Amino acid sequence: MECDKCGSDAVMHAAYSGLHMCEEHFRRSVDSRVRRRIREDALLPESATPDDPETWLVGLSGGKDSVVLTKLLHDTFDADPRVELVAVTIHEGIDGYRDASLEACLELTDDLDIEHEVVSYADEYDLEMDDVAADDPLDMAPCAYCGVFRRDALSRYAEEYGADKLLTGHNLDDEAQTAMMNLLSGDVRQIAKHFDASLGSFEDREVDDDPFVPRAKPLRDIPEKEVALYAHLAELPTHMAECPHASEAYRGEIQQHLHDLEEDHPGTRHSIMSGYEELARLAAEAYRDDADAPQGRCERCGAPTNNATCRKCELVEELGGELPGDD
Ligand code: SF4
Repeated sequence: MECDKCGSDAVMHAAYSGLHMCEEHFRRSVDSRVRRRIREDALLPESATPDDPETWLVGLSGGKDSVVLTKLLHDTFDADPRVELVAVTIHEGIDGYRDASLEACLELTDDLDIEHEVVSYADEYDLEMDDVAADDPLDMAPCAYCGVFRRDALSRYAEEYGADKLLTGHNLDDEAQTAMMNLLSGDVRQIAKHFDASLGSFEDREVDDDPFVPRAKPLRDIPEKEVALYAHLAELPTHMAECPHASEAYRGEIQQHLHDLEEDHPGTRHSIMSGYEELARLAAEAYRDDADAPQGRCERCGAPTNNATCRKCELVEELGGELPGDD
């Protein structure tokens, strides 16, 4: 196979576009799609200046997605004094898994000279995911606990750090799966929340009244396989092992369906996301006036919530953990 751009040996074929690309044109294509997404989502406001830069916190797990995101953001903004990048890794307390991926995070941030912080469930909640998964007192899947703790840890750290945005490495496959799960649930409010939480342009999203640091996903146009290929070609340090507690069975089913559809009808993921994003924007506008965004604060930890205590504090109590400041 030859590259359709220059005739060199191709390293990939994108069935959805019909293009064959060599390494150089493939990497350029990923770079330009991510930079276009950053522009179209208006991630960098005109108010950002060298004297008053934006601080972007990047969730860095050591997996291919967050590693590629960190590298691309570094390459794009390293010489731009309007953006300061800080990477943060959440350590869940999973033996033999997170320590290995943490090594990849340390190698990358050292190579790129990016500030890197680690936030652990042990320090934040006096809990480790290995113990939570073994006890499972509420008979939930481990990921159901872990997702609540990770969202809280990232959001609280971003708020404490004074970050302007929290960026995560969700790719096109991740987002198409979430879109399908939300559509199949029939929960239109959840679709509206998805838009305001992390989709669309910052010019269209309702982030001013949001008590959480706004999130963005600059890789959301890039298929998972292309992220993996980029990481491989760029020789980035990544940790590919799967978490031993991975348990999102429903997402796995949706993933398989989408994979089969994409094989038979290339471009399915892109078309799902373009239609879904428009639908989600309309849903967000429709619900904006009676938004059920958190109006209060958790009386225990201060996190945004509509209840007396937030879900994370309920889980910490149920699991026998402690929050910083508890006696
Ligand atoms: Fe946590 Fe589940 Fe991810 Fe493992 S797979 S780190 S338990 S969310």
